[in-house]
Amino acid sequence: MSVYFCMLGSGSKGNAALLKTAGVHVLIDAGFSPQELALRMTGTGASWDTLDAIVLTHIHADHFKRTCLKYCARHNVEFICHEDHARRFENFGSFKQLRGLGLTRTYAGDVFTIAETVRCLPVKVPHDSPPTFGFRIETETENGRTTRVGYFADLGECDESILSAMHGVDLLALEFNHDESMQLKSGRHPSLIERVMGSDGHLSNRQAADVFRRVLESGHPAPKALVQIHLSRECNSAELAYQAAQEVAFWAGAPTQIFSSRQEIRGTLHHVDAGP
Ligand SMILES: [Zn+2]
Ligand SMILES: [Zn+2]
Repeated sequence: MSVYFCMLGSGSKGNAALLKTAGVHVLIDAGFSPQELALRMTGTGASWDTLDAIVLTHIHADHFKRTCLKYCARHNVEFICHEDHARRFENFGSFKQLRGLGLTRTYAGDVFTIAETVRCLPVKVPHDSPPTFGFRIETETENGRTTRVGYFADLGECDESILSAMHGVDLLALEFNHDESMQLKSGRHPSLIERVMGSDGHLSNRQAADVFRRVLESGHPAPKALVQIHLSRECNSAELAYQAAQEVAFWAGAPTQIFSSRQEIRGTLHHVDAGP
């Protein structure tokens, strides 16, 4: 069973990733309108009609568009969020409707499965919309191997317990939000700069590169692909993010290929290979 991963778009204006196995199609986050998601899925082999589930990291508007709930109801897509997120959605008519159809599910701290074959481990991360989660997603392939994908979009910092969820992943999607000097010189309001750079904000290129270095030094096989996500349009560039990660891979002698995702267009459709 092949596993594919594709960032449909990433940044402060919207985030969504597609994870696709032979039998299961899942979106991680739905931070675009349902129509935009449909457009961005064109050519990936997935569509609203084939989706099995949407899994939510947190409720910030760049990760969750309420209008997607109606499309979930219309296309029989399960909507999976944390129990605290669900409590926030309780008054939405579209959420009630979806729940009435048996298409909502909540996760707590434990592994949950989608269509019996995709295992998701929610990993709580520090961010200013608590609770926020990253995911480690494992899928068994037909030859008995396991593919592992890590998805960590919005996090202010990364402690050892979060890092351990990234160990041995085949593909790591990790936030490279901003270049610190561009952020400091951005002319943004000081409170915004403080929020973004704070421990409940977003990872800078330097911080994310350090996370990547720790993953490579963990003794587990290096990811085959690093997908840089959530790049700030004002305070980052794909070149700076790439350089930060490439230097780490170079000095570690890691074979990891580095990709950066964009806000306006879909990213690379990755074939995720299992094992070393
Ligand atoms: Zn956020
Ligand atoms: Zn975000």
